[in-house]
Amino acid sequence: MIALESRLLPTYPETKIGFVEGDGAWLTGTDGRRYLDFAAGIAVVALGHRHPAPLAAAHAQLDRLWHASNLFATEPAVELASLLSDRFGGARAFFCNSGTEANEAALKYARKATGKAGVIALEGSFHGRTLGSLAVTGQPSKRAAFAPLGPARFAIPNDIPSLSEAASDDIGLVLIEPVLGEGGVVPLEPAFVAAASSLARDLGALLAFDEVQTGVGRTGTFFAFERLGVKPDLVTLAKGLANGLPIGCLLVSDEAPRAFAPGDHGSTFGGNPVSCAAAIAVCSTIDAELLAAVRANGARLLAGLSALPAVTQARGYGLLAGAVLDRPAQEVCDAALDAGLVCLTAGPNVLRLAPPLVVGADEVDQALDILTEVLA
Ligand SMILES: *Cc1c(COP(=O)(O)O)cnc(C)c1O
Repeated sequence: MIALESRLLPTYPETKIGFVEGDGAWLTGTDGRRYLDFAAGIAVVALGHRHPAPLAAAHAQLDRLWHASNLFATEPAVELASLLSDRFGGARAFFCNSGTEANEAALKYARKATGKAGVIALEGSFHGRTLGSLAVTGQPSKRAAFAPLGPARFAIPNDIPSLSEAASDDIGLVLIEPVLGEGGVVPLEPAFVAAASSLARDLGALLAFDEVQTGVGRTGTFFAFERLGVKPDLVTLAKGLANGLPIGCLLVSDEAPRAFAPGDHGSTFGGNPVSCAAAIAVCSTIDAELLAAVRANGARLLAGLSALPAVTQARGYGLLAGAVLDRPAQEVCDAALDAGLVCLTAGPNVLRLAPPLVVGADEVDQALDILTEVLA
């Protein structure tokens, strides 16, 4: 039994349940019950709990080498960088340990490449909790207690005129999430992304996609930007990349200006061999067949959600789904947990569902049945 009253700092709401074991899309609670997991550790456990591929790869690497630092090459980091470059179509990688660190790397990269400190980001965006990433996070509730924060200007998602209103000469980076995750599962429209891309070009700024949540197959393509017809200079990845082991990554397109030289940036734990070995297995498992299943099950989930009585809109791509509710999302999330389904929220009235990418159609139907019951 886990003591739920603990000596942890209260940065998260009190939890009434702990989990002790996972298997595919299922979790076992401290109460001994089985729960259907449509949260996947906040869109992290991409292939499901204890998926054999990353499990075997991490085990094998644990038995060989845990850490050597970035002063020396290790096979898993070199191979993962090469796999991600192939998926992107020509890029170099910097590895770190989390999403916010990947965004910090992007912020520093753009600042050095352009010599400009300004950033355009989006209202409602989420880029992380460290001070640099927080400065470009467009959510007053997360920023307020930590002002003053660095320079950022916020445009409104899918509002093209608001982009040029945010423009100024000191902008070195335009940073957007292809689908705003924490900000309510809001997909960006291709025309808006195209406008953001041409604004970045006009301003002499870099274009970065924060794919910490949307990347690694979550939306039905390996990168969510593949759906948008715009290739960015920079992409950040983290959550799903190593199936739950800590990892973050900045990808820099071969077409972007060169900026980082030895000494400009670093991370002691970045590129950890065990995390990278698991990530190689994840990337190798995400093939065309799995992506097609993500799109099919995602469509099934969205269709089911939009048919529920309390849902005013269902939106998202692949297995990143948001159901806009006519009532507070946290209440529904709590009731679903009591009924055996683990969900997420994204803002006050959006229920967010992000099951493992390997979830089956039958499990999607089970989740919809539980939500039907909860919303009745
Ligand atoms: C979760 C998230 C982050 C922050 O990732 P951490 O690993 O918690 O630092 C950044 N950007 C997006 C889009 C995210 O969803």
